[in-house]
Amino acid sequence: MNPEKNQLASESGQVIPLDAKTYDSIFEHMLNGMAYCRMLHEEGGPDFIYLYTNPSFHRQTGLGEVEGKRVSEIVPGIRDSDPGLFEIYGRVAKTGIPEKFEMHVEALGDWFHINVYSPKSGYFVAIFDVITERKRTEEALIKSEERYRNIVETANEGIWSIDSRGVTSFVNPAMCRMLGYEAAEMIGRPVEDFLFEEDFSAHRWGQIERQAGKSGVYEMRMRRKDGETCWCRLNAVPLYDDSGKYAGSFAMITDITDKKRTDELVWRQANFDFLTRLPNRSLFMEKIAAGIRKSDRSGLPLALLILDLDRFKEINDTLGHEFGDLLLKETAQRLVGCLRSNDTVARLGGDEFAVIVEDLGDLRHVEHACSQIIDALAKPYSFQGQAIYLTTSIGITFYPTDAGDIETLVRNADQAMYAAKSKGRNGFSYFTPAMQASAARRLKLANELRTALEREQFRVHYQPIVELSTGRIVKCEALLRWKHPLLGEVSPSEFIPIAEDNGMILEIGDWVFREAMKQASIWRKQFDPDFQISVNKSPVQFRGESSWGGQLKDFGLPGSGICVEITESLLMEANSTVKAHLLQFRDAGIQVSMDDFGTGYSSLSYIKQFDIDYLKIDQSFVRNLTPKPEDMALPEAIIVMAHKLGMKVIAEGVETELQRNLLVSSGCDYAQGYFYSKPVPADEFEKKFMKGPG
Ligand code: C2E
Ligand code: MG
Ligand code: MG
Repeated sequence: MNPEKNQLASESGQVIPLDAKTYDSIFEHMLNGMAYCRMLHEEGGPDFIYLYTNPSFHRQTGLGEVEGKRVSEIVPGIRDSDPGLFEIYGRVAKTGIPEKFEMHVEALGDWFHINVYSPKSGYFVAIFDVITERKRTEEALIKSEERYRNIVETANEGIWSIDSRGVTSFVNPAMCRMLGYEAAEMIGRPVEDFLFEEDFSAHRWGQIERQAGKSGVYEMRMRRKDGETCWCRLNAVPLYDDSGKYAGSFAMITDITDKKRTDELVWRQANFDFLTRLPNRSLFMEKIAAGIRKSDRSGLPLALLILDLDRFKEINDTLGHEFGDLLLKETAQRLVGCLRSNDTVARLGGDEFAVIVEDLGDLRHVEHACSQIIDALAKPYSFQGQAIYLTTSIGITFYPTDAGDIETLVRNADQAMYAAKSKGRNGFSYFTPAMQASAARRLKLANELRTALEREQFRVHYQPIVELSTGRIVKCEALLRWKHPLLGEVSPSEFIPIAEDNGMILEIGDWVFREAMKQASIWRKQFDPDFQISVNKSPVQFRGESSWGGQLKDFGLPGSGICVEITESLLMEANSTVKAHLLQFRDAGIQVSMDDFGTGYSSLSYIKQFDIDYLKIDQSFVRNLTPKPEDMALPEAIIVMAHKLGMKVIAEGVETELQRNLLVSSGCDYAQGYFYSKPVPADEFEKKFMKGPG
């Protein structure tokens, strides 16, 4: 039931009349300020008079008693400062159409939200709230928004937001500059339009932080409008709407292209060989570790090849380091040309290279690759219009069959490479367990050698050298013997190279020399004043200062009592130190033999440049001697030429009477070999071969 005007509806549905007291009470308790006024039109401008105001009016405006007074009286200057207020009040009082507005009333210094209506023409009621506080907050908010907008617009960092579909919704000017676009060209386009294709699947920004549900920092490449790529670091934050649904992402983006370039440079310097631009040892180690992990996953074996150029040092020393560098560069290129793109070629240092061949479905592929490498490197290199030939030796080992760790693999490949070298270079060798065993034995011998001298495990044996024209024993060769309490007799051809490697040969060789001098001076005094003992001297022993010439007088021995046996390789690398040694021998009267002639370079014209007294024809020649003219041709030629050059010839390894006779008829001067005697201890030698004078 609709209550009549001036009536109140009761709870029980009864209608009760609305009395003046109730009216008053409604206005009295209202929280809004309220004023009932009449518009006035004075000469000085519009004005109004307060007819009724409620208590909230005073609270809100801070004004005292106003009823019956004009506003211009109570708030002087309000007409000038706030003409808008009068305009609205006047309009409402006139038209009767209510209005609602917010206004800052200067004269009162506050913001008001005002509802105004007109109960009868010329009158109006204003119901209002002071909203200064709210306005201030709003203003502050607007200001800070402006400030933020400013920051975003002027930031050096790119700012970019995308919606939930990955479509660009905002980019700031820095972002536009970074990629070379106008904002309008970017907005509305999917983010993948700007990403570098290769990185796309890995770095879909938007997806990453969305899935993770938190912000993320990552680096990726973006594509600029001009087609260039630039490296960016993204700090991306996922955004959610009020219902918690993913609404897109917002990212702060920094251009890190320059930093990436420097990083890359530093990385290259640390991981690549400057000369050949191949990976260096450190990157090689990483690659082989990665290769091993890959092989574990795929079950396919991996091959490690270690290559060492043959006689590179010689070329480097004779033709100069600049050419040596060119040679290495070209070798690197040839190597790369032989291999598949996923194989790794590295330079381990000097003239040593490594190749990692992964995913070996067929082991024969390695052999094929090796042959290709050997062929490619065997092609001549050009040096000042001259052809230079270089060969290489390759060691091969497999993971996981030969070893389970990098260190052992590298050691295996090294051993196999040395085996290839000792097989005659320019070839390849696979690692075998036998190689491992021999490497272990070498290590053991090397250790034992260190104490062999002080433990008196060495002896010198002597092998007679016979003058063929008379059959007299006029010389002998001192040959070292090592008897180890557990290992037994160890052959000099096994332990001498080890002693050369670890430098022990210097001490041991000096000891042999002193033994030989002692023995020579005894035998010369007691039996034969012209007797001579030959002592072997390896190239390594020619590296330091020489003292042998000076030691003779300690034993009262003239130089002619000793002959030093050297090898051809010594003359090939003959430098000033070697020459000084040889000169010292000549000055002291010590003779020099060229040992094992015919196994190395065998260049008589080269030997001529040095003072060599004897040529020892190697046993491999003597062994093959038969009366056939074609077998005799070479030894005969050597003997004739040696004589022409003023050298005497000693044949080594004479084992049969036939060999002896053939050598005699060829004009050979001396012979040494089992046909006469094996090397024997000094006392036995003395008993058997030395006869007192007369
Ligand atoms: P080498 O100087 O050529 O010595 C000759 C080698 O041939 C010796 O081997 C000798 O025992 C062996 N030989 C002699 N006659 C015959 C024969 O009729 N038939 C056969 N099959 N062999 C014969 P050895 O004593 O085993 O020495 C091997 C090598 O070790 C020597 O070759 C020499 O290069 C080196 N060597 C030995 N002693 C010394 C040393 O004191 N100092 C240095 N630096 N090297 C040494
Ligand atoms: Mg010798
Ligand atoms: Mg020899």
